[in-house]
Parts: sequence; structure tokens; C-alpha cells
Amino acid sequence: MATFSINLKDGTLNKDNEVIVGIDLGTTNSLVAYMKDGAAVCVQDDLQKNTLVPSVVHFASDGSILVGDAAREKLITDPAHTIYSVKRLMGKSYNDVQTLEAFFGYRILDEDKDALVKVKVYDRYFTPVELSANILRELKSRVERELKASVNQAVITVPAYFNDNQRQATRDAGKLAGLDVLRIVNEPTAAALAYGIGLDKSKAETIAVYDLGGGTFDVSILQIQDGVFEVLSTNGDTFLGGDDIDKTIATFFAAQMGLDTQVLSANKHLQQELRLLAEHAKKTLSDGSFFQGEIDGKAVSIGRDTFEELIMPLVQRTLDCCQNALRDAGLKTNQIDKVVMVGGSTRVPLVKQKVSAFFGKPVFNNLNPDEVVALGAAIQADILSGNQKDLLLIDVTPLSLGIETVGGLMDVIIPRNTKIPSKAGRQYTTSVDGQKNLKIAVYQGERDLVENNRKLGEFVLRDVPPMPAGLPKIDIQFILNADGILTVRARELRSGLEQQIDIQPAYGITEEDMARMLLDSITHAGADMKIRGVLEARNEANNLLLAGVKFLQQNDGILTDEEKVNTNALLKALSEATQTEDKDVIHQAIETLNNYTMPLAHRAMDTNIRAAMSGKKIG
Ligand code: AMP
Repeated sequence: MATFSINLKDGTLNKDNEVIVGIDLGTTNSLVAYMKDGAAVCVQDDLQKNTLVPSVVHFASDGSILVGDAAREKLITDPAHTIYSVKRLMGKSYNDVQTLEAFFGYRILDEDKDALVKVKVYDRYFTPVELSANILRELKSRVERELKASVNQAVITVPAYFNDNQRQATRDAGKLAGLDVLRIVNEPTAAALAYGIGLDKSKAETIAVYDLGGGTFDVSILQIQDGVFEVLSTNGDTFLGGDDIDKTIATFFAAQMGLDTQVLSANKHLQQELRLLAEHAKKTLSDGSFFQGEIDGKAVSIGRDTFEELIMPLVQRTLDCCQNALRDAGLKTNQIDKVVMVGGSTRVPLVKQKVSAFFGKPVFNNLNPDEVVALGAAIQADILSGNQKDLLLIDVTPLSLGIETVGGLMDVIIPRNTKIPSKAGRQYTTSVDGQKNLKIAVYQGERDLVENNRKLGEFVLRDVPPMPAGLPKIDIQFILNADGILTVRARELRSGLEQQIDIQPAYGITEEDMARMLLDSITHAGADMKIRGVLEARNEANNLLLAGVKFLQQNDGILTDEEKVNTNALLKALSEATQTEDKDVIHQAIETLNNYTMPLAHRAMDTNIRAAMSGKKIG
């Protein structure tokens, strides 16, 4: 097991002697942790019994708000006003989450399908950011009560697959709760830190973090080198967890009781009781080998063997995800040095056993699997406060980022899998004379045409001084910060005109969308390449057509009538070629025109230079 000694200061004080806390803002439960006597600890409730704060918010009709255990009790008595799983809504639009609507017991607003989703409670609307802020406020006051001091700074964890919107939404929730969020950290990175993995800078390691919670599963492969944490790949299932295990046992018990499924589906109370008993049975079987209980006057029981047989398909699904994550990282199981277990459901012995067998090594599971992420966040807070020098956290951007160029083409500026933080830029120019306003549209995705990618936002660089096409130098910089948030800056270098936006796009993206976008890019690679070829040829031809017309106008007196007629005919042929979908035809027409006009252009240039020279007075 991991033994590590780190010289961590108590309370993770920043320069103003304020504590920086670590927060795990979870789908089902949330926790807050800080450094105490050189070790990270999670804050307990007032009864010193429980470190978990259920991520549930209840609104009473008189306007009072309950968070945590008290709110969770309202899930049964007042489901319409009790909000859970809000993390699933962070940074999402109604379109993104409508398939989940049946899953929520509360109302999701569907008036504007593209806008960020809101939740309706009585006649008020709440954003997921506001709802999460309620949970964060509860955690903040919990730790303030324990420390008897005000807490204003935090590190908050998010799943490694969270996109820009979701990270930004989490950061905003912190701000709303009165917390300055110093860093958004990936959950698997935090879990590794909790075990001290990565703190010894001389060691390079590749690790897998297996996180099976109540409702979600994810696995991440991290590479740690020189104190740098890099996410190589992530995989998972946003609807796979302990709840599914409970459902499986509940169904087994129902069959044992001879309950008709129709009777059961009509009796919500019995369903709930069965589910709770099933969860109890599951927890009992984590330590014992047999469970016996009673429900509705009938006895139910289950042995460890039957339990394991029933849940094996669920466990297998998690192993399939592990296999996918390894494939995406280009690694084999024997290249994984350590496996870290996270989430309450990793207490199930079969899970531990199968994961360990899959990776062919013992797993790290001696810390409380519910607490590891929060503990790691507290350690990260300690690093940020300067107690752990030189330790960096690096992630990769999951999808390419770029802008739209002429013809609707995607021009990638930061490619997918680039380590972040990262900065990249490129220079562009105009394609029309005297162009004053330039639209910069930012996209995310792998396809060659922007229409197949996801638009993140756009802005207009206004009032560029009028210049001939091709003369302005427009420098576009993409700055992706450590939280994965993108700033796009455009600057016209000749005039110094500058404008920038922080990308907080209108709506989010699901993991499935991301997987689909990647898959699409592979499926359509051939077709995309063809379209890109045609569009690029067409752009080149259009530029040449403009230049050709200008050339004829400016050199009217130099060219013979025959040359003018021929040039016009070739320009017409090129213009016709641009109407085809064949890049070779366009290239051929470009070449013919270039070959014919090249000597004419040389002659025109010579004549113009001679004229200029003769007009020049020397001395
Ligand atoms: P998390 O979302 O990480 O808090 O995980 C919560 C899940 O862990 C729930 O499905 C719990 O039923 C499950 N869980 C908690 N304790 C145990 C246990 N002793 N054995 C099996 N599952 C557990």
C-alpha cells in the first residue's frame, strides 16, 4: 500500500493566512476537506458521523431552503420541489438533457431549447449554477463552523470529461457561493494525489482511476511525470452505478415475493421500500456472505454468490469501459503501474476483485472511496498555496479548437489532445478589398467543415481600417487556461485594433456527443477531405479571379487586344470550373490561367517599373 510522507502545512494557508479548502462537488454526494495536522481530512457533520453532504436541495413553499440529508428526506415526501443530480445539468441546454427528463422528478424548463437549462420550482426558475451554489454554500458553512473562521477560497473537482462550459459553470457556482475558485481539478487527478501518487517528482507512472459511484461510472488513464499529471484518456457510462446494483437486487426480491411487475410499478411506496432494502442488502454483502430481511410481511434473502452472479453484467460493463480507455490511450493493462479505486460502489468485493484481475495487480483502496477526491482536492489546495512547489497539473483538450475560414472550412488552431494550459495562434488576412468588419467564429470538433462541428461562439473585429484584400494582418490567438477555459483574441497588426472573448458557449455537450463527433470525423474523413480539397481550390480560384480582373483594369494600355480576349476567356473558364465539385478541374483551370498570364504579368511589371523610374527625379 502507498506510504508517503509529504511536508504539508496545516490548514493550507494562503499568503493572507486564509484556509483554502478542497471540494468534491458530486452528483450524489459532496464533501469538503482541508489540511489538518499535516494530513487531508474531510469535514464531518455536526454529529461527527458523516462526511457526505447529499447533493440535494429542497425548496419549501415559504421560501426556505434545505440542503443535504434534510433535503434528501424530501425526495419521497416532496419530489417536485427537491432537486438532485444537478451536476448532470451543469453547462447543458434543454436539448442536451431532454432524454434524461424522465429521470428527474422535478421540472426542467423547455421553452428555449438551445438556452442553458433551468429548473422550475414553484414559480421561480433556477439555473444549475444557482442550485450547485446552494450545495457549495452548505459545504462552506460546514467547514467555517469547524474552523471557526471564514473560508473564501477553494479548489473544486470535476470529472475529467467535463468540457469548457461545465467547468465554467462549476467555477461560477463557486463564485455565487462566495468562493474564489483557485483551480478546477480533475477528479481522477485528485484521487491520485490523495494516495500521494505524483508527489515524488522523480517517478514516472501511468495509472488508472476507476470511479464507480451511485449513478455514474468513469475510468481515466493518467500519466504522471515530473510532477505533471496528464489525462491520456477517459471513458465511462453516465448511467451506471450503485443505483443499478440496487435495482437488480430489488427486482430479485420482488420475484422472491411473487410480486407482479404491474402491481409493483403502481405502488411507488413499495418500490421505494424495496430499493432501500436492496441497498441495505448490498452493503451487508460487502462484509458478510448472506442477507435476510423482511418487506411487506414477506421474507427475502440473498447470498453472496447469487448477488455476484446478478451484478456481474454490470461489473463487466465497467471493465469494457476500462478496455476502451486503454485502447484510446494506446496502452495495454501491463503498462498500468497503479489502479486507484474511487466511489462508494468500489466497496463491493466483486468489483475490487474483478478490477484487480483485469489490470493484473492489487488496487489502491485503503482510503475511504467516498472521500478520496475531496482529500486530493485539499492536497491540491495545499500545492496552490505554495506548500508544494513545482507541481503542475496538466490535462488535454478532448476536441480540436479552431475558427471558420472562407468557404466554411474549419481551421484548427489547438488540435485535440493538446496539453493544457496551451496557447497557439495564426495570422489571417481578408479576401475582399476594404473589408471593415471581420467575423471570427470559434468551433470545436474534428470535421473539416464547420457546419459539422460545434460552434462555441463568435465575435466581430470591427472598424478595421480599409485596406486592399490580403493586406490586413489579423493575428488570432487561442489561450486555453489550466481550467480548460478558452480565450480567443483577434488583433489587426497594422492598426493595433484588438478584440477578445472568453468562450462560455450558450450550451454544453454530452459525453455521447463528444464520442459521436470523434466517430463522425473518422467515418467521414474521406468525404471531408474531398470537400476540403474542392473548397480550398475554389478559394484559390476566387482570389485569382479577383486578381485577374484587377490586372486587366490596371494594365489596359500594356496588353494587346488578343491578350485581353484570351485572358478574359481563361478567367471565364476558371469561373466555370469553380462551379464544379472537382478540385482537379479547378486546379487545371488555375494552372492554365497562371501559365498564360505569367509572362504578361512580368512584362506589365517591367513596363510599370520603367515608367516609374523615368518619372523619378534624382537629386
Ligand atoms: P458515491 O456516489 O461515490 O457516494 O457512491 C454511492 C454509492 O455507493 C451508492 O450506490 C451506495 O449504495 C454505494 N455504497 C456505499 N457504501 C457501500 C457498501 N458498503 N457496499 C456497497 N456499496 C456501497
